[in-house]
Amino acid sequence: MIANARMPGGLRPVEVRVPSRPLARFAEVLDPAEFERCRSSLREAAEQLRGRVVWHVNSTARGGGVAEMMGPLIGYARDGGADLRWIVVQGTPGFFTVTKRIHNLLHADPGDDGDLGPAERALYENVMWDNAVELSALVRPRDVVVLHDPQTAGLIPLLRRRGARLVWRCHIGFEDLRDPRVVRGWEFLAPYVRAADATVFSRAAYVPDCCSGAPVHIIAPSIDPFSPKNQDMTPAAARAILARAGLVEGPPGDEPPVYVREDGAPGRVDRGADILHVGRAPRWDTPLVVQVSRWDRLKDHLGVMQGFARLGPMNGTRLVLAGPSVTGVADDPEGPEVLAELTAAWRALPHEIRHHVQIASLPVVDVQENAAMVNALQRHATVVVQKSLKEGFGLTVAEAMWKGRPVVASAVGGIVDQIDDGRDGVLLRDPTDPAELAGALRGLLDAPARADALGAAARERVRSRMLIIRQLTEDARLLESLG
Ligand code: UDP
Repeated sequence: MIANARMPGGLRPVEVRVPSRPLARFAEVLDPAEFERCRSSLREAAEQLRGRVVWHVNSTARGGGVAEMMGPLIGYARDGGADLRWIVVQGTPGFFTVTKRIHNLLHADPGDDGDLGPAERALYENVMWDNAVELSALVRPRDVVVLHDPQTAGLIPLLRRRGARLVWRCHIGFEDLRDPRVVRGWEFLAPYVRAADATVFSRAAYVPDCCSGAPVHIIAPSIDPFSPKNQDMTPAAARAILARAGLVEGPPGDEPPVYVREDGAPGRVDRGADILHVGRAPRWDTPLVVQVSRWDRLKDHLGVMQGFARLGPMNGTRLVLAGPSVTGVADDPEGPEVLAELTAAWRALPHEIRHHVQIASLPVVDVQENAAMVNALQRHATVVVQKSLKEGFGLTVAEAMWKGRPVVASAVGGIVDQIDDGRDGVLLRDPTDPAELAGALRGLLDAPARADALGAAARERVRSRMLIIRQLTEDARLLESLG
């Protein structure tokens, strides 16, 4: 049980300002007829929503896939003529411990094995109540409110009386809905999510019974190919960014460490990453195996390290495990602990293996600078890994595929919707088996032509199916269906 279930008081949600982004850019990556189809469906939805606001509400402005998608989803829709806004609810540490517990259970993971009893419910509802006070004043009767993930589900009944249309979007889940942990997680959320006018899930397999009373939409996540995270970047710029961050050694190369910010202004990477490594950073031409993820046990950084350690002759190949600086992600209380465990495991590695592994915390003070570092790292990688034990969708997979990288990822959750094994990436059948990961890495490091072919097919798959403009049109259809 979590102590201190008192009324928090004074928690005020915060609005994140999102500039509009030009939809016309997509003419570069889509064929003309498809581009026109998307653009006109966005126009129609904007017409129907005239005079109303669509509020997107989540619990963090940075870190993780949901925060990643919010800027583009809102920015492009604004360019299409709709009025969308982004609100971030605030919570207490106890609240985020409870919501992380629910998050883990919905992935069929025991997490911290803590209670979800009346005290936790009271704590959760108090924080929701506090946030609802201010939100209720903002939301008008015909507005639409899209609430994301368990951290906001408790707002649904509280906003009901405002008369707005309420959509709950769940980005996580697990296929076996009868798993007792999953059942527990849904039991906690059911009273809130039942009150939604519609729900959205990334995969049909994740939809629980408690959501079947209202329309359910299946909309897979997607990436913005023009954001600092995914925009084209020359190899020289990527190298300069990584050298500036301290992730590889120079020579500095011909270009400065620059990228294009979301508003079109030039951006520059100036901060260094906080890196654990033995001796010097790898030379810029060293082959890198890279995983970029939040410090979450379900991302299994430890397993990546164990698999990499089994690689056999490394021929200079290095592993980079990168994630956000742990002070930066408010709604993920387990981050510091997971990073500390990983650090301890790294220290216990035999010296010759430890020498080949670096653990990097990327600064998040400037989210766009952080994104440019991730972009450079994914582009520069020889192989990108996502060895998650469970995964709602796994945006990092789409991000690396878009960069034409060969990806080795666990066949779990939404990852299986992104990779066709052997065609546009490699799937690990047993995500807990380090030997399987080592074999998959060997198979790519020793066969660059195969790795290139997988990378090229990966980019095309993302282009045709996983770009944000597709999600925008699906969202537009959903909004229209609400009337
Ligand atoms: N990410 C980031 N900086 C980091 C680590 C991760 O921007 O230091 C991003 C990553 O690029 C991706 C998102 O966080 O866009 C993670 O989304 P994913 O769906 O893979 O997992 P989630 O964190 O939502 O479980």
